[in-house]
Amino acid sequence: MPLRAKVASSVSRTAAALSRAAGRGDGSVIGGWLGLKIDPELLAHLAAGRTIALVSGTNGKTTTTRLAAAAVGVLGPVATNSFGANMPTGHTSALAKAGHTPYAVLEVDEHYLAQVLDATEPRVVALLNLSRDQLDRAKEVAMMAQGWQTTLAKHPDVHVVANADDPMVVWAAIGSAHTTWFSAGQRWHDDSWVCPECGSPIERAEDQWWCTGCTLRRPQPHWVVEDDGVVDPTGAWHKIVLQLPGRVNIGNAATALAVAAQFGVRPTDAVSRLGGVASIAGRYAQVVRDGRGIRLLLAKNPASWLEAFDMADHAPTLLSINARDPDGLDTSWLFDVDFAPLRGRQVLITGDRAYDLAVRLDINDVPFQHVRTFSQAIAAVPPGRLEVIANYTAFQDIRAELDRVN
Ligand SMILES: [Zn+2]
Repeated sequence: MPLRAKVASSVSRTAAALSRAAGRGDGSVIGGWLGLKIDPELLAHLAAGRTIALVSGTNGKTTTTRLAAAAVGVLGPVATNSFGANMPTGHTSALAKAGHTPYAVLEVDEHYLAQVLDATEPRVVALLNLSRDQLDRAKEVAMMAQGWQTTLAKHPDVHVVANADDPMVVWAAIGSAHTTWFSAGQRWHDDSWVCPECGSPIERAEDQWWCTGCTLRRPQPHWVVEDDGVVDPTGAWHKIVLQLPGRVNIGNAATALAVAAQFGVRPTDAVSRLGGVASIAGRYAQVVRDGRGIRLLLAKNPASWLEAFDMADHAPTLLSINARDPDGLDTSWLFDVDFAPLRGRQVLITGDRAYDLAVRLDINDVPFQHVRTFSQAIAAVPPGRLEVIANYTAFQDIRAELDRVN
C-alpha cells in the first residue's frame, strides 16, 4: 500500500481500538471515518489483492454475511464487518482491522452498493431482496432497484447471486452477464405487484411470478431451498442444520452457499460450518431470567416483522418500537404489518412509540398490555418462553437491560 494508506489504516485501527476500550461500541464507524479522512482511497487500497463478496438487500444481510463468511472460511482467513457497520466507514475499518486476508465478505447498505462496488471490485455481489424500509429517508423500492441495475451495468465482470423470487431483485440483475439465481421463498409481496419494467400487474401462482405486460418473469433458479435444506446446481440436496430459527435463515444459509461456490467452495465442505453460527450481534440470542426463556428477534420493517412472526413460538410476546434516528422517524409502516398472527397469544408492548403500536394493534383486533420496562414485562408473563420482537434501538435497549442483569 502507499505510505498515506498505511498511515490511514494504522490510525483507523488505533481509533477503533480506543473507541472500543472507552466502551463506545465496536469503534468501526469512527475508525473508518478517520482512515478515509486521511486517505479517501483507503477502502480501495485495503480491498486490493483480496477476493471479495458483497451482500446487500433490505433484510437478512447481516445474517447472510456472517454465514457466507463462515462458508468461505473453508479456504482461509476472511475479513468481514460482522457487527452490521455496513457503510464504507465500516468496510474500511473491518479490512484495516483484519490485516492481510485473501478473502473478504462485506455486508453493504443497499444505498451504498454503487460506491462500494467501485472501491472494492468484488468477485461476487449477492442481492437478497428489496422492500420498504425507513420511510422518512430510504429510496422507493423501484428507485433502489433502478440504481442497482445501473450500477451493475458498469461492472459487467461481477458475478451476481440474486433472489429469483423477488421481482425487484430480478429486474435489477437481469442485465448482468454472469448470474446465479437462488430461490429461498419470499413472504412479503407488497412491494412487487407492479412490474418495474413496464408498469403492468405482476401475477403469482405457487412459486412462479410473471409480468402480464412484458417478458419479465421468474428465472429458473440454480439453488433452491427444499424442506430443511438446499438443492445445489448439480441437483444434490444438502441438509442445513442451523442454530438460527426460521425458514428465512435456511434461505440465508442457501444464499451463503451459493456465494461461497463462486469462490470455489463446495457445499459439502461448507455446510457444517454454518451450524457454528449462533446469535448475530445479539439477534436470536436466548437468555434465561427469572424462569423465563427470553429470545430476542430483531424486526425493523414490514417484511422482517412477517418473518419474525414465522420464527416466534406460540408464546407470550413482547413488542417494542422506537423511532430514533437509526430506526427511521416515521412509524406509519406499522399499518403495513398484519399483526393478526399474534391473536391468541399474550401480547405486551413497550418502547418510545408503544402508543403507535397500541393504535395499530387495536385496529387489528389484537389485545395487548402496555408495560414501561422490560422487568415489568417479565413479571407480567408466566415462567416459560417469552418472545421479544423489537426494532433496532428498542432491541439495543433490551439487550442493554439484559446485559446489566446478567
Ligand atoms: Zn412488465
